[in-house]
Amino acid sequence: MPETSRHHQVVVIGGGNGGISVAARLRREGVADLALIDPNDDHFYKPLFSHVAGGTARASITVRPQRDVIPKGVRWIQDAVTSIDPDARALTLQGGDRVTYDHVIVCPGIQQDWDRVPGLVDALATPSVASNYRFDLAAKASLLLRDVKGGTVVFTQPPGDASCAGAAQKPMYQACDYWRAIGVLDRIRVVMVVPTSTVFGIPAIDQELERKIAEYGIELHTRSELLDVDAAAGVVVIGGPGGAERISYDVLHVEPPQSAPDWLAESTLADAADEGGFVEVDTATLRHPRYPNVWALGDAAATSNSKCGGALRKQTYVLAKNLVAVLGGKAPTSRYDGYGVCPMTVSRSTVVWAEFDAEGELDPTIPFWKTMYRESRLSWIFDRRVLPWVYWNLILTGRV
Ligand SMILES: Cc1cc2nc3c(=O)[nH]c(=O)nc-3n(C[C@H](O)[C@H](O)[C@H](O)COP(=O)(O)OP(=O)(O)OC[C@H]3O[C@@H](n4cnc5c(N)ncnc54)[C@H](O)[C@@H]3O)c2cc1C
Repeated sequence: MPETSRHHQVVVIGGGNGGISVAARLRREGVADLALIDPNDDHFYKPLFSHVAGGTARASITVRPQRDVIPKGVRWIQDAVTSIDPDARALTLQGGDRVTYDHVIVCPGIQQDWDRVPGLVDALATPSVASNYRFDLAAKASLLLRDVKGGTVVFTQPPGDASCAGAAQKPMYQACDYWRAIGVLDRIRVVMVVPTSTVFGIPAIDQELERKIAEYGIELHTRSELLDVDAAAGVVVIGGPGGAERISYDVLHVEPPQSAPDWLAESTLADAADEGGFVEVDTATLRHPRYPNVWALGDAAATSNSKCGGALRKQTYVLAKNLVAVLGGKAPTSRYDGYGVCPMTVSRSTVVWAEFDAEGELDPTIPFWKTMYRESRLSWIFDRRVLPWVYWNLILTGRV
């Protein structure tokens, strides 16, 4: 028997970028009975983790108490969902409670699978391994990269689905810029491991990044991934179809393999034909094709775009409009176009602003500014200074 059972008109699973923003939009649209389930005390602005690791932001500015960002009028259930029964319109929580809903919005993000690389979990506890993908490890990365004066530094990006996959590269470019400024870059072998055949996958962006890679003297390994970490020996094995290679490292910076949360992948919300396990949605309306009272967005949804916060700005708008239409007995007519963005920080003062559509074509927000993707100081100011303010004050409050 469940501990308690309660019902809400709309339930949001996950209070991250997507969950808080869509809940705020729904409150603005007048939805009154709204609950949000999230176990965590803290809310993070993850794009700044890269700046923390790269030495251009303090960790403390990336986090705020979750209670401060939950929109007024939204009931916060501080627990984790462990299963969903979409036929019964019911959720089971870790604490044993049961929650039923008229509509549910599924956005618990992506799962970080650190244990998928043998030796990685143990390696994270050693002084020379860090990552910009976790709050504590980003702060650790910042100090580690700052103190390198020579030797080998390896950065890795995993294959498969990932949240802002290219973010693994950002602290690397920033660190190279710093090492060059203090005169030690020539003494450091910088290795970048990417699973793709080019560094980013969009020709114009590749060109910009390849120029920086040549400028910093980075050794780029394409079609490769981190296969094993032997932290005691300070050795990684990287490789791909071409074979495996052992590299001794002084510092290792890892982006973890990622996947759909296990409980979601095991549910009937995922498309059985899609191995990814993410929530199946109509990629335009963000409504589930088989369960009309299930909606999904953000990193947990099987949308066609790359997984990023920039996409959520549009997705939350579309989903809120469509859900309100359905609650009012109308058809959902708002459509998400597949927009995605990944601002690639390529120095401590410049960014390559990569905006693209679902087909991987450049998709600039300012249509007449065709060269907006090129390395620029203005993009850095926008990414580092303007966007964090926009996030806390306008995005999380459902205003944009
Ligand atoms: C290092 C890094 C850098 C990034 N840089 C950029 C960038 O520069 N630009 C950009 O656009 N995007 C960037 N992103 C991606 C962006 O942060 C994500 O796409 C975005 O946060 C996804 O939002 P979400 O709501 O889907 O998931 P999240 O923001 O991850 O939120 C998920 C929430 O669900 C909660 N949750 C998890 N499991 C459960 C459960 N079982 N029950 C209830 N709640 C649960 C979690 O506590 C969390 O609060 C970056 C990501 C990372 C990691």
